[in-house]
Amino acid sequence: MFGFSDKGNLNLITQALEAVGCKMQVIPDPTTVHFHLPSNLSVRVHRQYGEFIAELTKNFPHEKEGILKFYNECWKIFNALNSLELKSLEEPIYLFGQFFQKPLECLTLAYYLPQNAGDIARKYIKDPQLLSFIDAECFIVSTVNALQTPMINASMVLCDRHFGGINYPVGGVGGIAKSLAKGLVENGSEILYKANVTSIILAQGKAVGVKLSDGREFFAKTIVSNATRWDTFGKLLKGEELPKEEVNFQKVYVKAPSFLSIHMGVKAEVLPPDTDCHHFVLENDWSRLEEPYGSIFLSIPTMLDASLAPEGRHILHIFTTSPIEDWKGLPLKDYEAKKELVADEIISRLEKKLFPGLKSSIVFKEVGTPKTHRRYLARDNGTYGPMPRRTPKGLLGMPFNTTAIHGLYCVGDSCFPGQGVIAVAFSGVMCAHRVAADIGLEKKSPVLDAALLRLLGWLRTLA
Ligand SMILES: Cc1cc2nc3c(=O)[nH]c(=O)nc-3n(C[C@H](O)[C@H](O)[C@H](O)COP(=O)(O)OP(=O)(O)OC[C@H]3O[C@@H](n4cnc5c(N)ncnc54)[C@H](O)[C@@H]3O)c2cc1C
Repeated sequence: MFGFSDKGNLNLITQALEAVGCKMQVIPDPTTVHFHLPSNLSVRVHRQYGEFIAELTKNFPHEKEGILKFYNECWKIFNALNSLELKSLEEPIYLFGQFFQKPLECLTLAYYLPQNAGDIARKYIKDPQLLSFIDAECFIVSTVNALQTPMINASMVLCDRHFGGINYPVGGVGGIAKSLAKGLVENGSEILYKANVTSIILAQGKAVGVKLSDGREFFAKTIVSNATRWDTFGKLLKGEELPKEEVNFQKVYVKAPSFLSIHMGVKAEVLPPDTDCHHFVLENDWSRLEEPYGSIFLSIPTMLDASLAPEGRHILHIFTTSPIEDWKGLPLKDYEAKKELVADEIISRLEKKLFPGLKSSIVFKEVGTPKTHRRYLARDNGTYGPMPRRTPKGLLGMPFNTTAIHGLYCVGDSCFPGQGVIAVAFSGVMCAHRVAADIGLEKKSPVLDAALLRLLGWLRTLA
């Protein structure tokens, strides 16, 4: 889990838990991911940055200088971000305050805002296989190649994994939401579960409440939607004209495909004892990286926390990109049969590449499709999040939290800075700050607000 360290400013999960008086015990993960790539290229991303660089340069000795220059540029951005107090970039008093305190860091971030990782990698690296490796590094963050991955997003992830490291919460990642919920309730909040919002209630064009599928209505000064922008504006505000800011967002971004997920329990002896927790597999052909089912992600959390499974067993979470179109319109019997067939192919590939005997070691298996993602997360088409329609200008086109509807804010992966746990936590912190300013809990200047919002709106039209 990213953002779960005890240092710096980007450990937003730790900070969110601290804010409600909670702390979780974590297990440091020694390897962020073990890449198994074409031409038998095997690279472990070690927690220690020096070890990772040594392993990569061992594979590409002729590119040592380029490797160092590319990752050093990532560190420049990460260090700038990590030195700032992260709050709303839509709040001018904070923004100017940060600028006067840390002008160099702010200018560094502004310089990289419209840039993508692939262009920067190409400044320093020529080896096509190494550039493909950088694509794979970015793909696991953004589900697109490096040329389409904003440099700021890539840097956050490619550096935090060494700076704060990946830390696994004891008892499983589900514990994070439970801890946060417990802390919120203990601090006076009320959380409604199984509360399916079907529409946002408007009065004179302002968002004033929500309506649930069971007919109940709730009213508030501020409405924050964690549904994607497509769901917020396409479903929860159905019938309203799409604001031009959202038209612009949908022009720049499309919905990324979803995932096919396989959760398995296996006999422990099938995995060698030194197996890493996280793997990324692309067997023979780099061109399949972004294709549906082309690459396979695998996590084995019991390698870090054996208490998650009964003795002598391991848990495997296997997933691969998959479009919902492959699963629509099938009669139940065919849908179930297809799930088995596709899962079997994926498991066979892992058996061949990594773990001989995997199939016969399975004691439990459950397969989820993009429809499962859609159903349980209420995400249109089960999407992973926004994906640029064409080469983006870095993060320039990403909307922040305010919307064209007064009183309505969006938060999550279809807001700046995009997908991934650190990114969505950042979006949450930004949103909380902007809302606090708007309801009078933080300083605000209506004149500066209006000017900044106009400027940001104009900048986004350049994306
Ligand atoms: C298989 C997979 C593996 C991943 N692995 C990693 C990883 O290793 N590291 C990493 O950093 N990121 C990872 N990610 C990405 C990360 O999980 C997402 O970017 C992040 O969870 C998005 O957060 P979000 O809050 O925007 O949306 P979500 O996590 O989808 O949360 C939105 C919430 O809103 C609720 N909701 C939506 N609509 C309604 C409604 N109408 N009424 C009531 N509730 C509603 C949903 O039920 C959901 O709980 C992974 C994603 C997937 C799919």
